[in-house]
Amino acid sequence: MSNKNVTLVGAGLVGSLLSIYLAKRGYKVNIFERRPDMRKATISAGKSINLALSDRGWKGLEGVGIDNEIRKIAIPMYGRFIHHKNETTAFQPYGKDNQAIYSVSRADINMKLMDLAEQQSNIKIQFDERCTHIDRANLETHFENNTSKEITKLKSDLLFGADGAFAASRLNMQLSTDRFEYNQHYIEAGYKELIIPPGANGEFLMEKNALHIWPRGSFMMIALPNVDGNFTCTLFLPFEGEKSFANLKTQEQIKLFFETEFPDAVPLMPTLLTDFIHNPVASLVTVKCFPWTFDNRIGLIGDAAHAIVPFFGQGMNCGFEDCVVLNDLMEKHNENWNEIFPEYESLRKPDGDAIADLAVANFVEMRDKTGNPAFLLQKKIEANFSAKHPDKWIPLYSMVTYSPHIRYSTAMREGQKQEAIMQKIMAMPGIDTKWDSEDVEKAMLQYL
Ligand SMILES: Cc1cc2nc3c(=O)[nH]c(=O)nc-3n(C[C@H](O)[C@H](O)[C@H](O)COP(=O)(O)OP(=O)(O)OC[C@H]3O[C@@H](n4cnc5c(N)ncnc54)[C@H](O)[C@@H]3O)c2cc1C
Repeated sequence: MSNKNVTLVGAGLVGSLLSIYLAKRGYKVNIFERRPDMRKATISAGKSINLALSDRGWKGLEGVGIDNEIRKIAIPMYGRFIHHKNETTAFQPYGKDNQAIYSVSRADINMKLMDLAEQQSNIKIQFDERCTHIDRANLETHFENNTSKEITKLKSDLLFGADGAFAASRLNMQLSTDRFEYNQHYIEAGYKELIIPPGANGEFLMEKNALHIWPRGSFMMIALPNVDGNFTCTLFLPFEGEKSFANLKTQEQIKLFFETEFPDAVPLMPTLLTDFIHNPVASLVTVKCFPWTFDNRIGLIGDAAHAIVPFFGQGMNCGFEDCVVLNDLMEKHNENWNEIFPEYESLRKPDGDAIADLAVANFVEMRDKTGNPAFLLQKKIEANFSAKHPDKWIPLYSMVTYSPHIRYSTAMREGQKQEAIMQKIMAMPGIDTKWDSEDVEKAMLQYL
């Protein structure tokens, strides 16, 4: 047990969870959050994101015994429900034996995590307090109150920056660290949130237990279920170009675009035009940086260390896994941060980079390939082979989503090997008819 004081910047998903891990080990945690308390304020329109929670995230929640609380607000999704342009649909299971990912509202899970954090007597969350400066030499963090503009200066033994993709803590470290590596990359697409409300009796208007995708090549729309019967839809579309946000300005353009591209969704979206016009377009960034720890007293965690695009549904899951790794290291090194911090960043940096790259690659898979017969055949061959040889082949999606014991960096390397093998298999003459034959199985074994 430790009796150290920790300052934690950001009561988002990762900061709130990390605080519980630290509190359970005896640390006294002071969290400072820039926003007002979202449990008291209303969430603004177009900011209702829901997230896919999968095994790495569950493991993080289980580690402090709060998974059952979160299960109450999570909806299992057993596969992708594809909506083609000609209004036919297809269900693609995510894995075997009813494996699922879970839809949770970002606001709901964040509020629940804050409630659970505040149940610990050694955690205090202060809202409306924005981190403005870190005096590294004295480990003193400065916060400005949103209303009074009063500055609070707080010294502590340890400091964590869990303040998200545009972290003030990271920027402070960047400015005070020689040779700090920093890279940010925006993809060409942005996103806008829309809604499919429940039916007249509060019922779901589409299959509830699935992640819905309308793959359209260079863009896509997805929809995840919420506990109150609606679906949050997210349109991912390039900012510029022929089919782009730039070309959807008038009501006529928006209506024509949706009726042409998503004909089966339009009748389910009565507030489409108003939502489209009022909800903002947000951008999608990948941030890679190094180091993640400073002077063995300051650490970055979650999106502050590794912001990634959402197409593998792993940003939060990866941040929760950071907490698990850190907790294991606290145990291993008996709370000695001179050992914990260096090992934390050397273990997690390659994994953060790997999931960042996998997430970008998965955008192409979701928006384009999920509607492509050759891709579906390839996935069928992989699933078939994996069922016969589970010790030899775990599909990349399953390694990332359902196998928290496999590191992201290992999953990425294995995935690259598998892809090279599958390219040879898909080039075999007559593969579409003999995909489940012994020939194919033998060839795969040989290439392995
Ligand atoms: C459209 C979209 C879809 C996504 N889908 C998924 C998904 O399906 N699955 C998944 O796992 N992940 C998903 N993610 C990623 C996920 O939302 C993030 O990875 C996760 O929120 C990171 O948690 P965090 O606590 O590190 O950062 P955040 O949740 O961003 O929290 C940071 C907190 O710090 C506070 N803060 C910021 N600056 C300051 C400051 N100066 N002082 C004090 N406080 C500050 C913020 O107000 C916030 O509360 C998605 C993201 C997006 C944008």
